[in-house]
Amino acid sequence: MRIGIGFDIHRLTAGRPLLLGGVTIPAQAGAEGHSDADVLLHALTDALLGAAGAGDIGTHFPDTDPKWKGAASGLFVAEALRLAQQKGYRVANADLMVLAEAPKLVPFREKIVGAVAALLKVEPGRVNFKARTMERLGPIGEGRAIAAWVSVLLEPEGDR
Ligand code: MG
Repeated sequence: MRIGIGFDIHRLTAGRPLLLGGVTIPAQAGAEGHSDADVLLHALTDALLGAAGAGDIGTHFPDTDPKWKGAASGLFVAEALRLAQQKGYRVANADLMVLAEAPKLVPFREKIVGAVAALLKVEPGRVNFKARTMERLGPIGEGRAIAAWVSVLLEPEGDR
């Protein structure tokens, strides 16, 4: 088995859509970024690449490349998964954590888990979603940023 960890943080700006796991969340502000700025899928991509021993998101999808402007971040996850599969692995489980002061994300848990499970080509029981605030501390707590931590475990294809 191989484990990977991913982290990402984006600034929040009024008027931008807020995407988490490919799901649009009604919110006052959305994440800034070169692609669709889905902070959760960026952390997931890095966790997958880490577990696969395949580098990082900045190397594969540089934000200086106009090709990725406005890109749906599901594409990054799909490519990272393809690299893992190429090495003979599939996802055993993924644990997702979003740090945001607002909005409350629990009502979107099932939708996000379903969307991420579909991207990872696993059943929803292999994906866990958690959300927490920063107790109004720091840039996240002040509502100026949103961040995500993700860990992914890969297992050899033949194991189940
Ligand atoms: Mg990012």
